[in-house]
Amino acid sequence: MSVLKEKILCRIASEGPITVAQYMEMALYDPEHGYYMKGDPFGAKGDFITAPEVSQIFGELIGLWFVQAWEDRGRPDCFSFVELGPGRGTLMADMLRAAKMRPEFLDAAKIFLVETSSALRAIQQQTLKGLSIRWCESLAKVGHDAPLFLVANEFLDALPINQFVKTGDGWHERMIASKDGNLFFVLSDKATVSQFGAATIGSIFEQCTIAAEVVGDIASRTAKSGGAALFIDYGHGEAGFGDTLQAVKQHKYADLFAEPGEVDLTSHVDFEALSNIARAADTYVFGPAPQGAFLKALGIDARAKKLKETVDAETRKAIDNAVERLTSPSQMGHLFKVMAVAASGSSPLPAFS
Ligand code: SAH
Repeated sequence: MSVLKEKILCRIASEGPITVAQYMEMALYDPEHGYYMKGDPFGAKGDFITAPEVSQIFGELIGLWFVQAWEDRGRPDCFSFVELGPGRGTLMADMLRAAKMRPEFLDAAKIFLVETSSALRAIQQQTLKGLSIRWCESLAKVGHDAPLFLVANEFLDALPINQFVKTGDGWHERMIASKDGNLFFVLSDKATVSQFGAATIGSIFEQCTIAAEVVGDIASRTAKSGGAALFIDYGHGEAGFGDTLQAVKQHKYADLFAEPGEVDLTSHVDFEALSNIARAADTYVFGPAPQGAFLKALGIDARAKKLKETVDAETRKAIDNAVERLTSPSQMGHLFKVMAVAASGSSPLPAFS
């Protein structure tokens, strides 16, 4: 049994059942044994592939999106360019390469990467060496004074969630208990005071308090200091009930409880809840739009065509496959959504019709 699983069992033995959020926090972010704290889970040889790892085109288009958004906001001559949860640093590298076409944008940008994992931070430093970048552990360390241009790709889905189950006597939090070294779900004895709407018995409601706080903070910053934030993740545009907590290892669904720390744990992002929070902070919310439509509007086909002009047949095929993967509704094109936030009254953001 892994050291982390023993640590979790020990905690449950002394404190009683833990919440799903507490379990995710330990499984993903335990300082020594947490999944993201240990190393590099991304890519074909890892556990899952994210859009920037599928093709350089993704980051290039997002980089140009920010250049356009910055131009449309009067080209502020000093702004914070922030990425939350940058993984391997690939998205930032591709965005900055594409943004070279507007050197004034790069001159005006103070770049921050917000990353909790020192193992991933080391990989990001490698990917981005030679560039002037600051790393910080939380957005709180990024000053409030300058306009904020911020991107978060597959960041929100990796934040711990709480789950609640509708029963005959109200909503009970879903907890994790143990017996004979095995972990399993139970319900908390007491019903919660919170209500999550009319639902049939057995329905599950998911709540991500950290995502709500992060998006609320970003929205009030953009409302006050200007800028724009772009969130890309898989999830639903309309809130609903359902259990979306999942474990993935080596590109396959895995058991939630068998190997904490060895599998990725994620949940679908509730874009409706997050867009309500952003609007309440006096921002315009754009989308959520399906990733496929967003990338098409940004010209993914034209960029792919250009890249294919100078390469061999095998690479041309790989480019076509990557575009298909990023945009096709049966792959990442529909389930992945793009939502943007900017101060109310500011110019529209590119690629949102
Ligand atoms: N954006 C990357 C990787 C997403 S994985 C990509 O598209 O490839 C999630 C990332 O968020 C990891 O880098 C993880 O360490 C980081 N992370 C998770 N919670 C965080 C938090 N609270 N603060 C900062 N980084 C966090």
